[in-house]
Amino acid sequence: MSNDFIVFGSPVIGPEEIEAVTEVLRSCWLGTGPRTKEFEKAIAEYTGAEHAIAVSSCTAALHLSLLALGIGPGDEVITTPMTFAATANSIVHTGATPVFVDCDRSSLNLDPAGIEAAITERTKAILPVHFAGRAIAVDEILAVARKHDLLVIEDAAHALETRYKGRPVGRMGGTTSCLSFYVTKNITTAEGGMLLTNDEETARKARVLSLHGLSADAWSRYSDAAPKHYEVVVPGYKYNLTDIASSIGLVQLRHVEEWLPRRDEIWARYDEGFADLPVTTPAPVEPETRHARHLYTLLVDDEAPVDRDGFRDGLHREGVGTGIHYAPLHRHPYYRERFGLADEHFPNASHIGSRTVSLPLSPKVTDAEVDRIIAAVRKVTGGK
Ligand SMILES: *Cc1c(COP(=O)(O)O)cnc(C)c1O
Repeated sequence: MSNDFIVFGSPVIGPEEIEAVTEVLRSCWLGTGPRTKEFEKAIAEYTGAEHAIAVSSCTAALHLSLLALGIGPGDEVITTPMTFAATANSIVHTGATPVFVDCDRSSLNLDPAGIEAAITERTKAILPVHFAGRAIAVDEILAVARKHDLLVIEDAAHALETRYKGRPVGRMGGTTSCLSFYVTKNITTAEGGMLLTNDEETARKARVLSLHGLSADAWSRYSDAAPKHYEVVVPGYKYNLTDIASSIGLVQLRHVEEWLPRRDEIWARYDEGFADLPVTTPAPVEPETRHARHLYTLLVDDEAPVDRDGFRDGLHREGVGTGIHYAPLHRHPYYRERFGLADEHFPNASHIGSRTVSLPLSPKVTDAEVDRIIAAVRKVTGGK
């Protein structure tokens, strides 16, 4: 790969992150400790959530949310096929059954209009995704949930900066919201996630489950506070976040509000640069919401001289890395075969899944690189 290849989803890592990690290494407290507590507090302050529980991934946060809310075998959870495998895998891991409802063709978010028809007496929760950082239809989804007494767990992996009527994730009304700090996400800790909730009991259960089911966490067991016995109250998981990771997250979080305008800027340049091409650019942002600009996903139209895979190959030849978000879950063998799913059940997700491609949107992409990406897209789609 040549030096000037524009890598998709490359994080912004600077001297501050390197310094923060070095400091943790020097302190010799590498595991879950003071930096993780600080990171939880910083995320709680940023989002306004009452409880923020740092975990090893968003997948872990989703799994713990479902478990803490008592979801398990025999239960059904409604979700979207237009997402990463982790969303539905976490449901399967509890023994519950994911029930897929098609996404909206324009927002790519779970279509609230389809939810009611999928509700049965086994349905316990709705698990929507704020796709690409675009707020879900919160009011509509909460209304259906209230009407049928369902829990709402938000997959907010893309949505740290998202707002809905002024409310950030953690304050939108879901029982829990799950953040991801995976390498490609808007802020990263290499691997990491956070479970947000305003429900005291859910927070307490999730915290105990996140570390072996111990009645006290390692920090309070090994710190200079008085020694104390711990007890296993439930066979929990090993889902805690390390101080090495949290130290990176603390630095990244300080930059998030300055990175967003840069993401907005790149987004606007793409929209303008592709306006006359046989591609469908992302829908405008819904009023009274803020988009986190996590993914710029365009659709390669049927009139284009290449299909989506040809488009990707063409961009690769021009030195531009791309992503696919997503190959919808109903097309993956496990979900297709286990639940008997087919394209005709999900016309929107199928349409999008065959045509979608994501362009680099990191705040570290330079203006010259944006020019190159736009030129490459124009060349591949036959634009002048
Ligand atoms: C990245 C992602 C996840 C999983 O996040 P991890 O932190 O890697 O576990 C879940 N859902 C969506 C929509 C994602 O994009």
